[in-house]
Amino acid sequence: MNWLPILKGCAKRIREKVLPLIAKPEAAKTYGKGAGGDKMKEIDLIAEKAIIEILDKNKASCTLISEEAGTVRIGRDHSEYYLTTDPIDGTTNAIRGLPFVATSLATSKARNINSVDTALVSDILRNITYTATRGQGAYRNNQKIKPSTESSLKEAVIGIDLGTPKKEELAAPFMGILQKARHIRHLGANALEICYVADGTMDAFIDMRGKLRVTDAAASYLILLEAGGTMTTPEGKELYAPLTPSQTVSFIAASNKHLHGVIRKSSV
Ligand SMILES: [Mg+2]
Repeated sequence: MNWLPILKGCAKRIREKVLPLIAKPEAAKTYGKGAGGDKMKEIDLIAEKAIIEILDKNKASCTLISEEAGTVRIGRDHSEYYLTTDPIDGTTNAIRGLPFVATSLATSKARNINSVDTALVSDILRNITYTATRGQGAYRNNQKIKPSTESSLKEAVIGIDLGTPKKEELAAPFMGILQKARHIRHLGANALEICYVADGTMDAFIDMRGKLRVTDAAASYLILLEAGGTMTTPEGKELYAPLTPSQTVSFIAASNKHLHGVIRKSSV
């Protein structure tokens, strides 16, 4: 089954529904906690509904694994596919009007992050779409992408998510990187930041909080690997995480093996 056109349809519909809500107070209307554990906002629910609408329209059958609704069977037919999604990555950015908001969609036949075979991450505000199909490379608006060859920590642009109350504990292993790296960023939508590593906009992205959900990372993981980048656990092992709404991952994503090694050596 060719999922890519359906994923593109979902992203297009989300964009139509979400753009009018950017920086609007109604986007922030809060409901109970979603399956991923965060409080659901109006904008998250509208985006999730848009996905289900397009799946229904295409008569697609799958098990949807979503940050908000949790695990839901879609379609009448039995399906061997899983669709793992974070409908809105960067909800806080969307509500504030910070122009860095993404949709993440990934399909797989098995329920593990390393089984994802089709992936899409869309930059909603800039209307840029990253896609990958296993074994066929990664694309940004249909143009093939590859990561940077930067290997110097000093020159590299490195994203680090330190969004946790345990900042001291979390920052300690990074002191080597924080001291050497001149360009540290965090833009607030991790799926999109990993795609920025895939297309050479940034050189690395690190999230060791143990808080990032697989729903956010599933699509960009394949996009980065297909582009030629490296993304492993902090210990350097292959990511292996079941696709469930509450499962989290910690990782180092880097444009190339050399920089990945430098980062690993500089973080203890
Ligand atoms: Mg979300």
